[in-house]
Amino acid sequence: MKIKPCTKCHSKESVFYRPYSGERLCSNCFITSIKDKVQNAINVYGMLEHNNRIAIGVSGGKDSLTLLHVLKQIEDETHGSEIIAIFIDEGLEGYRNEAEKIVNQTCQDLKIELIKLSFKKLFNLTIDDFAKKNRKLSICSYCGVLRRRALNEGAKQVNADRLATGHNLDDMAQSALLNLLRGDLSKMQSLFPGGFYKKGFVRRIKPLCEVPEKETTFYSLLQNFEFQSYKCSYAHEAMRNDVRDWILEMEEKRPGTTHTIFQTSLKLIPKKIDKKQNICEKCSEPTSSNLCKVCQMIEDYFKINS
Ligand code: SF4
Ligand SMILES: [Zn+2]
Ligand SMILES: [Zn+2]
Repeated sequence: MKIKPCTKCHSKESVFYRPYSGERLCSNCFITSIKDKVQNAINVYGMLEHNNRIAIGVSGGKDSLTLLHVLKQIEDETHGSEIIAIFIDEGLEGYRNEAEKIVNQTCQDLKIELIKLSFKKLFNLTIDDFAKKNRKLSICSYCGVLRRRALNEGAKQVNADRLATGHNLDDMAQSALLNLLRGDLSKMQSLFPGGFYKKGFVRRIKPLCEVPEKETTFYSLLQNFEFQSYKCSYAHEAMRNDVRDWILEMEEKRPGTTHTIFQTSLKLIPKKIDKKQNICEKCSEPTSSNLCKVCQMIEDYFKINS
């Protein structure tokens, strides 16, 4: 069977088909298209200014490694922003060893400064501690809240102006649907990929927001990235998995569904940003109630298990 030519350069054989746009791309045009998608998202959502200091949360998975490579390339060629990688060890036995080695090597190759933080050092508890004991929520809920705090802490430590995370288009669409299913429109605010200024928080940006997960995987394979293959043993607990499966099925049947969910969710972001803020009475971090979520979770952990 004759392989169809690339619809961009018309000279090479295509290696990737995008059902949602009808493009067939050769490897060179595919790699360029990912950089273009990231650059476009940076511009459309006003993510960066010249000479920003950008902290990137790097887990060693394909998304964060793609982000690290693409953003480094874009910044070297354009804004000249400095990039610092932040690696968080959640305390999942055996899970982060492979990832840590990959992140060390990648940062060394790209000459990017790397800082490491751990849940154990920051909170004196690991995710395994939460998993082994009685708890009210899924383990991923604890992990998500503590990881967000740890990344913000790391970004503050290195005086970053922005904190970039590797959320891809699928993640964005899943989060949007999860917010709807939980009836929590207030969380839609955090989906805006350009982030916003909030006292005590480094502005979060999501430059991969328009790159589907399949494409970060293919990009990583084409670039021969070594990325973490070992899956977290708690991954099955998350409600996100059900939502992911449903969106993937819909995307298969009706290409473009994931983009539509994401774009529609942006229209649902409340116009007025909730600026009501207190200071957590335990850790002094900003919060909307008396205790921040992190302190609440740690307090519950000891209460339930005393
Ligand atoms: S699957 Fe859940 S527990 Fe495991 S790293 Fe991801 S968020 Fe944390
Ligand atoms: Zn081409
Ligand atoms: Zn607190």
